[in-house]
Amino acid sequence: AFEGLTDRLQQALSGLRRKGKVTDADLRETMREIRLALLEADVNFKVVKDFVRNVREKATGAKVLDGLNPAQQIVSIVNDELTTMMGESDVPLNKSPKIPTVIMMVGLQGAGKTTTAGKLALKLKNEQNARPMMIAADVYRPAAIEQLKTLGEQIDVPVFEMGTDVNPREIVKAGMARAAELKADYVFIDAAGRLQIDEELMQELADVKEIAHPDEIMLVVDAMTGQNAVETAEGFNNRLDITGIVLTKLDGDTRGGAALSIRAVTGKPIKFVGQGEKMTDLDIFYPDRMASRILGMGDLLTLIEKAQKDYDEKQAAETMEKMKSNTFDFNDFIDQMDQLQNMGPMEDIMKMIPGMANNPALKNAKIDPKDMAHIKAIVMSMTPAERENPDILNPSRKRRLAAGSGRPIVEVNRMVKQFNQMKKMMSGVMNGNMAGMEQMMNA
Ligand code: GDP
Ligand code: MG
Repeated sequence: AFEGLTDRLQQALSGLRRKGKVTDADLRETMREIRLALLEADVNFKVVKDFVRNVREKATGAKVLDGLNPAQQIVSIVNDELTTMMGESDVPLNKSPKIPTVIMMVGLQGAGKTTTAGKLALKLKNEQNARPMMIAADVYRPAAIEQLKTLGEQIDVPVFEMGTDVNPREIVKAGMARAAELKADYVFIDAAGRLQIDEELMQELADVKEIAHPDEIMLVVDAMTGQNAVETAEGFNNRLDITGIVLTKLDGDTRGGAALSIRAVTGKPIKFVGQGEKMTDLDIFYPDRMASRILGMGDLLTLIEKAQKDYDEKQAAETMEKMKSNTFDFNDFIDQMDQLQNMGPMEDIMKMIPGMANNPALKNAKIDPKDMAHIKAIVMSMTPAERENPDILNPSRKRRLAAGSGRPIVEVNRMVKQFNQMKKMMSGVMNGNMAGMEQMMNA
């Protein structure tokens, strides 16, 4: 898969790789070629537009990492943006707190619903010792039920069916009752598909959804169908509010458009990829690995990763030193915030600090990403002198910050106060004094 796209991207970036310095014109030309490569690979035009804008922005404001030349940094930025386009990280299958977890497979005819249901059931059996069951709810093609039964025998998973003369709604009701009897922990509903989305199918699926209360509505999409796949996904998502996506046939000669656009367009995570017809050909979807595969620059990306890691370590060491010596300023604060934002929700990060996980003050801590954005707006309004020297922030300077950031003055005051508390706490902790931290937590 993706050979065409990978070649084009490599070509676009190879021009840069021979250069020691990247001019604005170089960057513009490279981005033009990347844009064309993505469009030709059938990536959604709006997704391409956002992608190009993001890469340009980041390339302009990029920090220079030791050990990388400017061209390598652009490869790194392109790789990061490709990753972000496809999701932040892998997203596991939804799971119900009590059995059974119900997984409803939806998608167009031939997308791979039946095959993927079998693959997933086998995976759960092998990896979690699960006891899955499958319900044959595609009554429009007699062959579909036979196919599921054969599959069930092959992987030794019970299949519930009532032939083709019963309404799928009734089949699902009876099937759910059977699952309870069997104490199945996963139930797969192999729902019907059509060649195209139509209202009758959507109504049937909506009804089945209401009856079965699925924990996961898994949209199965044939990756070879490019933009059509994305339009189909939007259709299913608008009507059924899907929870996950499986991209199938990535072993085929796909151009990459579906893989690269579907997450950005639907906002729903790709959870698995099908890469063959065998029952074991199903893999967890890792956006970063897929991005590297699409870029096809394994060696270079390893080098970049290392440089990134060295850089982060060096920065972390510097921050520690600053915390210790109590010279942590607003520039460091912004750096930290940027790093934290790449790591996940603030409250999760706080819990990773030794001794913090069980701190009662953190139990109900919720830090809104919006608050982070407000804080950043205030810091951005500071002059370089204010950032380096928070002590000079007198009332008139704070009023200016409030006006500049569009935040109320009370918020500016609170932010500066919290910054000072945090600074004190950090220097306390760094110098082996936990009392400082507790003081902060109770503030
Ligand atoms: P359904 O109509 O959505 O239930 O689709 P099926 O599960 O019947 O699959 C349609 C065809 O696609 C079958 O021949 C499958 O073997 C094939 N198929 C499904 N997933 C993959 C995949 O990941 N790779 C390849 N090569 N073939 C697949
Ligand atoms: Mg089927």
